[in-house]
Amino acid sequence: MDKQSILAAMVSPLCSWYELNKRDFPWRKSRDPYRVWVSEIMLQQTRTTAAIPYYERFLQELPTVFALAEAPEEKLLKLWEGLGYYSRVRNMQKAAQKVVADYGGTFPKDAQLLSKLPGIGVYTAGAVASIAYGLPEPAVDGNVLRVLARLFCDEADILLPETKNRAHRELKEVYPMAKDCSDLTQGLMELGATVCLPGGAPKCDECPLAHLCEAKKAGMAEKLPVRNSKKEKKEVKRTVFLLEYEGEIALCRRPKTGVLSGMWEFPAAEEHLTAKKAKQQLSLWGGAEESAPFLSHKHVFTHLVWDMKSYRAQMKEKDESFFWVTKEKLSEEIPLPSAMQPFFRALSKETDTKN
Ligand code: SF4
Repeated sequence: MDKQSILAAMVSPLCSWYELNKRDFPWRKSRDPYRVWVSEIMLQQTRTTAAIPYYERFLQELPTVFALAEAPEEKLLKLWEGLGYYSRVRNMQKAAQKVVADYGGTFPKDAQLLSKLPGIGVYTAGAVASIAYGLPEPAVDGNVLRVLARLFCDEADILLPETKNRAHRELKEVYPMAKDCSDLTQGLMELGATVCLPGGAPKCDECPLAHLCEAKKAGMAEKLPVRNSKKEKKEVKRTVFLLEYEGEIALCRRPKTGVLSGMWEFPAAEEHLTAKKAKQQLSLWGGAEESAPFLSHKHVFTHLVWDMKSYRAQMKEKDESFFWVTKEKLSEEIPLPSAMQPFFRALSKETDTKN
């Protein structure tokens, strides 16, 4: 069978299967484009089960696009704490402000216009257009690419943009055949997430498309898709300082551009400092009553790894160039990036044990 015949024959069984087998997620209870959009942004880089409490809290605090457009940045970042990639939520606010200013608070019913909003690419525009508005617009993510590579027994590298663009074009042709384009988009995603699993473990016996699948026929299902390995991540060495003074801890802002731009973090040096050099650094901040090596931790970003050592220090004086906060305030009000969380958790645990 050629690709278009497989896709045309796929639409109806896949949509029926989705209706019967879809998992019960809070974002599936509504087709409000705001809710669909929030869930799609959150689910990029976050597992579905982990995203549920974040989604519920976010919607409870910011139930409408108007509320998001007006929210203070610290509140937004706190709601996003732990999800990482904070530029996503900053872009969400910019997009919400544009939806309010240019469209009176209603997301446009047009994938082209949606894709012009900050932080919304072709994938998210297709997801919102099809899931919320039922428009014939595909949303091609890694799950969908895997399903298609196997259905077609296609050995093209799914990490290449042209493979994704081609999949989008091919799917777009069959979208008008679906009774409900929302079911087609979600059916493809759901099949990839629950049946046509990654890591060489598809459950072909449970698959509604097994009769169409060329990879299954050829015994290739476990070998596909092809993903040529990405570049090695760059590793950056850092020394993090947990500076304490009379029950407060020092924070500083990251630069306005680059990794975790504008976020709070613990003061740090961009290298692994020896004990002697760490002491010299502490003396520049007023000197320490006592200091000792603390936790080491590696944090992995998309293209980068931070290899971090740390020192904990009781300072002799309060260097006013830092922002000093109590641990309670840091825990409850200040958004702290995931890269810094292990240090704060270890510090809080040690303090609790001593008390
Ligand atoms: Fe994936 Fe197997 Fe279904 Fe083919 S038959 S689409 S490999 S689960």
